[in-house]
Amino acid sequence: MKTELSTQSIRQHLGIEGHMIIAGPCSAESHEQVMATARQLAATGKTQLFRAGIWKPRTRPNSFEGVGTQGLSWLQDVKKETGLAVTTEVANAQHVEQALKHDIDVLWIGARTTVNPFSVQEIADALKGVDIPVMVKNPINPDLALWLGALERLNQAGIKHLAAIHRGISSAEPSPFRNQPNWEMGIKLKTIVPDLEVICDPSHIAGARELIPFISQKAIDLDMDGLMIETHVNPDTALSDARQQVKPNALEQILSELVYRRPETNNVAFNDTLEKMREQIDQIDDDIIQQLSARMQLSEQIGIHKRENEITVFQPNRWNRILEERTRLGKTLGLSPVFIERILDAVHGESIRRQNEVMIKREHEAPQK
Ligand code: PEP
Ligand code: MN
Repeated sequence: MKTELSTQSIRQHLGIEGHMIIAGPCSAESHEQVMATARQLAATGKTQLFRAGIWKPRTRPNSFEGVGTQGLSWLQDVKKETGLAVTTEVANAQHVEQALKHDIDVLWIGARTTVNPFSVQEIADALKGVDIPVMVKNPINPDLALWLGALERLNQAGIKHLAAIHRGISSAEPSPFRNQPNWEMGIKLKTIVPDLEVICDPSHIAGARELIPFISQKAIDLDMDGLMIETHVNPDTALSDARQQVKPNALEQILSELVYRRPETNNVAFNDTLEKMREQIDQIDDDIIQQLSARMQLSEQIGIHKRENEITVFQPNRWNRILEERTRLGKTLGLSPVFIERILDAVHGESIRRQNEVMIKREHEAPQK
């Protein structure tokens, strides 16, 4: 996937060094709750951006849907009293207008909004000519193009400071997480847009406060640029997402226990060994590619042979036998059946595609014979 997206650092914009820590309640509930949470967070000195949802996208109606615009002035009070920058979720043009009127520092687009290009475009249009950082949560389905598309729409409207937030994806499969993490999607996004800051939201991935340290560590190990963790003075009484919120002192504890591994080192012996091992890996990768090329050529020859004898390209029995035998071999060599199946699927798919091409050629050539 290619993109024209050009982005600048939100951390730099806010004067943050190191990881960006975003904390605050899922929802602003009252002036007291917002101020008490913000004061305690500011006292720890470990939060740079205070979050609170003012308009809440709830799955079912008749749940708490946020305090609305009045909450924005509470965020202004947080800024005034604690000096923390503030952020809130916007889902339409009115939200944007209200947030800008109340000097909100950073906006974010929620997972349920990112899935809808109409809504994202409406927000982008409302932001034309405004220089405010925007963070975009991944859509609830594992669709990288939709995530990138939302960032592009904002960028094309003139928003320069962008970040992405990985908050997991909905899944019908049983899982210990509320939203299954899809780390590959975040890594792919960063590969497509290397300058883009990608932040992790362990709260919405975990759905339970006990799992937050585990997810946070994983995000740090993957070199993500920050964490957004829902924090409430009294989580058990929270009007939304009570199970996943932590108290400000618990957040401080979680952050202090994180292990920050360095992406690089100057240690010569370590680097030499790493270099040697990487050379071996490169060699193996070259061999794999050469073998794949040989396999595909053979496959085409089989295609021609099948064509000459009027035999179908796909033979389910043969495919099942390949799967069974290779999976068994893989297992004895320490490779998981799922992994072998994925590789074989890709290889076999390409073989079938090539053999089909051989067949099509025949139909093409037929009249000349
Ligand atoms: C939130 O951050 O409170 C929220 C609603 O998140 P998401 O859009 O990731 O569900
Ligand atoms: Mn929430």
